[in-house]
Amino acid sequence: MDCIFCKIANGDIPSTTIYEDSDFRVITDINPVNLGHCLILPKTHAGNIYELNEELTGKAFTLAKKIAAAVQKATGCSGVNILQNNGEAAGQTVFHFHIHIIPRFKDDDMVLSFGSFKTDSESIAAMGKKITEVLHL
Ligand code: AMP
Ligand code: ZN
Repeated sequence: MDCIFCKIANGDIPSTTIYEDSDFRVITDINPVNLGHCLILPKTHAGNIYELNEELTGKAFTLAKKIAAAVQKATGCSGVNILQNNGEAAGQTVFHFHIHIIPRFKDDDMVLSFGSFKTDSESIAAMGKKITEVLHL
């Protein structure tokens, strides 16, 4: 199966990795809604939440809480959206389960719209590194 998130999660394609354990890799989104936008990817393939086993589903959302706290500290954001899309109708574009962690700012006046935030890969990686540093505190 040709799944880009399987390749990224298992290290076959390089990524800006914020966190990794035996079950998950957490990366910065290549096209962030805001700086610090991260994705939690399980290392085993599941197309969506229905295909992810109960144990990994629990672990994924426990990890989401931990990453959200680090994103909050690293970005100084005043809010965080935790988003998980299932199916094309829900806006899913990559069909490997993932959880979005999205920092939000009081006056960002943002309607969640993927691809709307303009930045560059260096800024994305620098914020990813900062989140990793906060995670290890
Ligand atoms: P979704 O719409 O929930 O399927 O989200 C897919 C997300 O994956 C989008 O926010 C994309 O910007 C992001 N994305 C796609 N390809 C990559 C990649 N190679 N590395 C990092 N993020 C990616
Ligand atoms: Zn996959």
